[in-house]
Amino acid sequence: MSEEKTKAELLKEKLFIKKEHTSAVIGEKGNAEADSFSEGYMSYLDASKTEREAVETALAMAKAGGFTEFDKNVRYPAGSKVYVNNRGKSLILAVIGHKDIREGVNIAAAHVDSPRLDLKPNPLYEDSDIAYFKTHYYGGIKKYQWTAIPLALHGVIIKADGEEVKVNIGEDAADPKFVITDLLPHLAGNQMRSTMAEGIKGEALNIVIGSRPFDNTEGAEAVKLNILNILYEKYGITEADFLSAELEAVPAFSACDIGFDRSLIGSYGHDDRVCAYPALMAALDCEEPDYTCVTVLTDKEETGSEGNTGLDSKYLEYFICDLASIYGAEGRDVLSASKCLSADVNAAFDPNFPEVFERRNTSFINQGVCITKYTGARGKGGTSDASAEFMGEIRRLLDSEGICWQTGELGKIDEGGGGTVAKYIAHLNVDVVDLGVPVLSMHAPFEVVSKTDVYMAYRAFLAFFSR
Ligand code: MN
Ligand code: MN
Repeated sequence: MSEEKTKAELLKEKLFIKKEHTSAVIGEKGNAEADSFSEGYMSYLDASKTEREAVETALAMAKAGGFTEFDKNVRYPAGSKVYVNNRGKSLILAVIGHKDIREGVNIAAAHVDSPRLDLKPNPLYEDSDIAYFKTHYYGGIKKYQWTAIPLALHGVIIKADGEEVKVNIGEDAADPKFVITDLLPHLAGNQMRSTMAEGIKGEALNIVIGSRPFDNTEGAEAVKLNILNILYEKYGITEADFLSAELEAVPAFSACDIGFDRSLIGSYGHDDRVCAYPALMAALDCEEPDYTCVTVLTDKEETGSEGNTGLDSKYLEYFICDLASIYGAEGRDVLSASKCLSADVNAAFDPNFPEVFERRNTSFINQGVCITKYTGARGKGGTSDASAEFMGEIRRLLDSEGICWQTGELGKIDEGGGGTVAKYIAHLNVDVVDLGVPVLSMHAPFEVVSKTDVYMAYRAFLAFFSR
């Protein structure tokens, strides 16, 4: 029997696009590297449940890696590593390159905020001998997913005298946790007939925080008083201090392996720490690059990038301008010559919901890092559409480094849509394209990604920084 390939088979190999499972491409050694990289990622996830914690953890890692606070009056030599901490909620890391800054910089921009439940400014109340916190959800969530799961509370409280109190409760095994109750199926006839958007309403996302009266004595608001007394003893706060606080309820579970083969990672907050961590590690592992390399870990993407810690703020532009002026250059010249990977996730094809995806143009778990040429909705509205030239450049770069990659759109046309920080970077006249990890159950309290895709994201950012 002949082993020879037919003319058609050979021509197919030459002409057809290939879709391959990353594990088959990278082999045993590559899979082991992906598993090992994922361990570091899972530790980062557990230590970084909020934007503040994600910045704090990244900053500690950067400092340990030799990054020092940026000083716009210092002329840094190539190889210098600097950081800018924007209000503890967004972080810029830069490794100074050999080339003239006028040739532009390489930017990898990921976000470190994730959908969650924020406490309202007046959160605490008692009803029917149960004490609650009222919440206002942050980002795009399916509200019903946040009931009947254990929650933890993270954040800061600024007391009347200005003292800052950090809160992190519900993560340790010994900590109490919190929960939003749901209706029992026996009495949920109407709820079950309503839409999933309406089954749980925003004002029903009230978190149970206690149920015993102060001094074990009945009285008006005695349960609320007991909670305030506990909070006063633990944190030294009064009810008014909630007005100057940012407290975020997040799922109280840790990142874990999923599957008998341990190929996947289940966790809260993959979007977008699954790109933030690889971009952070690429900054830490990048030594004396040609171009100056900038990793941005930003806040507020999930609510539209507005606010001074989001990328619609000028903080990145100001940094590039300060950097430019050190070397006698104009910030706008540096930006106009710069290139950016907007590091954000895309929706992975889910075989349980094939109807919303267009299979020929969607990303799949385990097929590598996903390049998203454009996002938006209703005819490419509200997006930066990467040019053929820049797509070509990134494609050549990834292929030359043997990095597994694919392309994806966010679902079928007119099925919905979404956005990333890409358009805010494009606003600075920077060449930009989205590149990130495909996610299953995106924006759920427990999202799923593949270890090989996480590793390919890291290798992509490292290759980009080494170009
Ligand atoms: Mn995202
Ligand atoms: Mn998102």
